[in-house]
Amino acid sequence: MTSIYLDHAATTPMVESALRAMTEQANALGNPSSLHSHGRSTRKSLEDARERLAKELGCLPSEVIFTASGTEANNIALKGLYWAAGESGKKVVVISSIEHHAILDPANWLASHEQAEIILLPVNPNGVIDLEFLSDLVATRGREIAVISIMHANNETGVIQPIGEVVRIAGQIPVHTDAVQSFKKTPLSFSHLGVTAMTISAHKIGGPLGIGALILKRTVEIPSLLHGGGQEREIRSGTMNAPGIIGFTTAALATYNVDEVRALRDRFISSIQEMIPEARINGLAASRLPGIVNVTFPGTQSETLLLLMDEQNISCSTGSACSAGVHEASHVLLAMGHSQTTAQSSLRFSFGATSTAQECDLVMSVLPDVIARGRAANIR
Ligand code: PLP
Repeated sequence: MTSIYLDHAATTPMVESALRAMTEQANALGNPSSLHSHGRSTRKSLEDARERLAKELGCLPSEVIFTASGTEANNIALKGLYWAAGESGKKVVVISSIEHHAILDPANWLASHEQAEIILLPVNPNGVIDLEFLSDLVATRGREIAVISIMHANNETGVIQPIGEVVRIAGQIPVHTDAVQSFKKTPLSFSHLGVTAMTISAHKIGGPLGIGALILKRTVEIPSLLHGGGQEREIRSGTMNAPGIIGFTTAALATYNVDEVRALRDRFISSIQEMIPEARINGLAASRLPGIVNVTFPGTQSETLLLLMDEQNISCSTGSACSAGVHEASHVLLAMGHSQTTAQSSLRFSFGATSTAQECDLVMSVLPDVIARGRAANIR
């Protein structure tokens, strides 16, 4: 039976050129911090890669800090910017209510260990942050705010957030954006956005797992989380992952056909609307990443649907986490006004560079039956 992968927002296959470049680099000897010729040669490859990535992101090479993941970059940014501002007594951290756990959890950690006050920015039923709430907050408590962190696009619904507006409202307050889902899927320029810091991750764009980057304004200094050799601007220590970085950069420069991915996703949406008319698509259609669609199938349980789809060799996602074996309702859908019940009746399908129309049709040939079986199981 053919297996179909519609979970590209979780991780996507490596681009062939990235895998080749990474393997070649893995065969090259030399710690980039060593002064001998082996080390210098690795250093040169790394710095060339950093330059190419910076160009792609609209930032300076010195603003790229390589990390081991998007999660690490988010932690460095949120904690670092909080600590840096803490010197002037600022204790408020503003994040949106739809952030990934890689921001939610460090924010909660700052609250429980570092006396931070967390303010959650609400979203409207379309999944877009409330800019009026932010304006009022900045007007009344701006002097207490250490950092604002709002994701560039949401990983469950794909909804793109108005980060330019956030930066305008924030004024002097540092803004971080988690752009892990956005990079390569929608135009993204660090300098145009005007944010203080931005997170990206390789395995979401066809690069390898275990490599990410924090883009941090050259003029900003923050305390580090990892102390050691100080390899990355003294902010991030650890021998640099040369093969990972080369794989990341090669993937960043590879072609990603946004229009093709969007066309497939839209074709899929049309089929769902035609064949399962009661299904509800979540999130603002006008401003969504090309590869993601989140759908509520009333009367079902997402977990059951996921398993029924898996039986058919189709991988998709519930979008939300499992805690101690119990499937929790998505905090993103709840923040958008869903009830516990409808939030737990939703699936995320995400398309990527390797997705095909044939796969799309195969999924649609089984989905109505899966939904009917899911509903029947829910009634029992
Ligand atoms: N932020 C968002 C929006 C994500 O979707 C993810 C991964 O799912 C992460 C952060 C974490 O990135 P990484 O897997 O590189 O740690």
